[in-house]
Amino acid sequence: SPAVCLRQTSRTARSFCGMIAELSSDMDFKGWRTIARSACSRSIPPENIIWQTPTKPADLFAASVSYPRLKQNREDDRKVVAPKTFLEKAERVVCLGDPEGYPKLYRLLWRYQEDRHLFARPSDPDVSWLNSGEKVIRRDIHKMHAFVRFRKVGETEDGREQFVSWFEPTYPILHLTAPFFRRRFANMDWSIVTPASSVHWNGKDLRFSEGGRREDVPAEDALEDDWKVYFASIFNPARLKVSAMTSEMPKKYWKNLPEAELIPSLIQSARSRSDHMTQAEIGEKNPLTHKYVQGREDPVSATSDASSLADLQSQASRCNRCDLAHCASQTVFGEGSETSKWMIVGEQPGDQEDIQGRPFVGPAGKLLDQCLEHAGLSRQQLYITNAVKHFRFEPRGKRRLHKTPSVGHIDACRWWLVQERKFVKPKNILAMGATAARSILGHQVSVNDARGRSHLQPDGSRVFVTVHPSYLLRLTDPDTRRSETDRFIEDLKCFGE
Ligand code: URA
Repeated sequence: SPAVCLRQTSRTARSFCGMIAELSSDMDFKGWRTIARSACSRSIPPENIIWQTPTKPADLFAASVSYPRLKQNREDDRKVVAPKTFLEKAERVVCLGDPEGYPKLYRLLWRYQEDRHLFARPSDPDVSWLNSGEKVIRRDIHKMHAFVRFRKVGETEDGREQFVSWFEPTYPILHLTAPFFRRRFANMDWSIVTPASSVHWNGKDLRFSEGGRREDVPAEDALEDDWKVYFASIFNPARLKVSAMTSEMPKKYWKNLPEAELIPSLIQSARSRSDHMTQAEIGEKNPLTHKYVQGREDPVSATSDASSLADLQSQASRCNRCDLAHCASQTVFGEGSETSKWMIVGEQPGDQEDIQGRPFVGPAGKLLDQCLEHAGLSRQQLYITNAVKHFRFEPRGKRRLHKTPSVGHIDACRWWLVQERKFVKPKNILAMGATAARSILGHQVSVNDARGRSHLQPDGSRVFVTVHPSYLLRLTDPDTRRSETDRFIEDLKCFGE
């Protein structure tokens, strides 16, 4: 409790007479939060607190300034306010393990009480320190989300599969990433072992324990072969940029990634592969593509209180209009030119989109990019979004199989799409697939019937309906795939006019 942690120093310690805040470790964010709130409410200025951790004991004898005694009268306590985003960033920045971080965070909290615009000034040295530090941790978290690979180690008696993963994050971030894995792999038992700590999920509880060693975790399981084939098939040599690739997938993570052993040979053979690569090959060579293919108030008259598209996106990140928000990793909002004449609408994010938080970055997105290029359009000119903003899937071991959203999901999520349309004001809208068409037109349509003409809307925009690129990826007959892809490109051209 703060009473224990926050103690007043005696005047005998040379001349310092302030507070010592004792934290249990360099990573004791909870402790910092409790003490900071209490100290701030008692109007104790930053310079009157010495933050002490086991690795940085308070150096009282270095403190040469004398401070007035602290108020004891708790009735004078003031109300302390802290923005949620500040606390979230503070929790992350603490993972840097910098003992100087605690006084800095307290100074920010202290200053914010008098200056409510503090965090809107990124050039302020304290704010800049916070932002750059938390960005480092956010990046580490992102890498962990993307690069943890589970190995199957067995099954429980009641048939639950058990997996384990070894991972070495740069910073001790396991407690910040564990909720993501719990949501994502809720249906299997798993452990993630890192050097500093481990976490275990049994379908009910998350339990943390001490760290482990790499050699304690099996290096391979059979499923990894599938993963390697999949990786090889989505590896696009025509766009190969080794430096960008190693910055996205830094080499330090390679040793734990089953697919990484393919990278050197894939890079080597990139040129000859790019000469032969066609859109058709993507679907053919990818054994997993089939995994990727497969509301309440009147949303049209409703208006949001969002002042901008970014504001709307931030609201959508907290959406719980339907149950999908509880299973998906995050809301995948639209992106692209906010004043575009063209809006493309897909069905829902897939596995990759769910992880990366961006629409159309997986196999269907790659095919869409290629077809857009053929149609003379580019992603930069467009606004791309989905009818449903959360990934709906069915867990199968460590895989997540795409599941078509229900009418309830589509209608619940339609509200966001309507708001996006109000901000972007596109002239032409392309609905790819039946889900998008239903959401855009407001009623069930057959893609075949609606395709090949434009549908004029009350706001003057024109809606075009076509197939979803995932449909093209699913086609196994090369001739059909080629002719269907050509037809899709023709649809894109009409939409782009
Ligand atoms: N399919 C979609 O409909 N949307 C995406 O963002 C990705 C795949």
